Amino acid sequence: MNYAIGIDLGGTSVKYGLVDTNGSIAFEQTIPTRAEEGATALIGRLTSVVVDCLLVARKKKFKVVGVGVGTPGIVDRSFRIVLGGADNIPGWSDIALAASLEAVCGLPVSINNDANMMGLGEQQFGAARSFSDVVFLTVGTGIGGAVISNNELFGGYNNRGGELGHIPLYANGVDCSCGGKGCLEAYASTSALVDKYRNRVIEKGINQTDNVDGRFIINLYKKGDSLATQVLEEHWRDLGHGIAGLVNIFSPQRVVVGGGIVEAGDFYIQRLDSYFRRFVMPDCSNHTVLCAAELGNKAGMLGAAQWAFSRIAQASQNY
Ligand SMILES: [Zn+2]
Repeated sequence: MNYAIGIDLGGTSVKYGLVDTNGSIAFEQTIPTRAEEGATALIGRLTSVVVDCLLVARKKKFKVVGVGVGTPGIVDRSFRIVLGGADNIPGWSDIALAASLEAVCGLPVSINNDANMMGLGEQQFGAARSFSDVVFLTVGTGIGGAVISNNELFGGYNNRGGELGHIPLYANGVDCSCGGKGCLEAYASTSALVDKYRNRVIEKGINQTDNVDGRFIINLYKKGDSLATQVLEEHWRDLGHGIAGLVNIFSPQRVVVGGGIVEAGDFYIQRLDSYFRRFVMPDCSNHTVLCAAELGNKAGMLGAAQWAFSRIAQASQNY
C-alpha cells in the first residue's frame, strides 16, 4: 500500500498525517501554526512536519510516494508556489513551498488552496464520495469553497479563480475583506452572522454583546429567541441565494456545506435547502442534493494526500 503525507495548513494550526490511497489515516498530528513568527519560520515548521511523517513511515515500513499541502491563498498553476492572498498568515506570498519541501524529503510535493483540498477530501472520501460534480463551501470566519467538475478541480486560468466566497450578491452591499462589495462572505459567513446579531442587539438598546459567537446564536434559536431566528433566517437566505447561483452555473450532484456552524443540527441544512430551492433554476438543480460535510477538520489533510496521489498519477501519464 502506498502512502502520501497530507498537510492542512491553517491560520492557527497545522494538521498533518500519513494517508493511504483509500483515505485511511495511519498517523495524524496537529501543531500550532505560529503565523506571527513569519514565513521562514513557518516553512521550517512544515519541513519538520514532513520529517516527522517520514520517521513514522520508516518505523512502520510504509512506502511514502509524495506530499500534498493545502495552504491559505492563491497557488500558481504549477501547484508549487503560494502567490499571495493568505490574509491569516502575514508574509505568506511568493513562497516556493513545493521546492523547499522537496529539497528536504526528495519526494514530489504538490500544493493547492486549502478550501480546494477540503472539497477534494469530501468528494473522494466524505459526503460526496462517488460523485463527479460537486460544489463545496466551508462557512466560518470567511467562506471558502471548491468546485469539482467532471472529477477535476476547477481553478480558472492560471489557477487564479475558484473564490466562491466572493461571488457578489449585492451591488450596493457592505464592503468585503477582498476589496469588493456585497460578497457572499460579507453576508453569509459566521462572522457576518455574529456582527449582524450584535448590531441588532445594540439597536434595541440591550447591552449583551459579550461572548457572542455562532454557537451562542444557535442556542438562542433553539430556545425560540426571535432576534436569533431573524438573523439566522437571513443567514440561510443569503447563503441559499449564493448557492443557487453556483448550482445554476455548475449543476453539481452534491453541494457539500462544512464549517462549525453547520454541525449545529439537521435543521441547519433543512432551512438552507428551503431557501436554496426558492432561488435556483429547477432544470439546473433537479440532480442536486444539498448536504452537510462529513470529514470535519480532517477534510483538508485527506484532500491534500489525495491531491499528492492524483498529481503523481498525472505526471506518470505524461511520460
Ligand atoms: Zn469579497
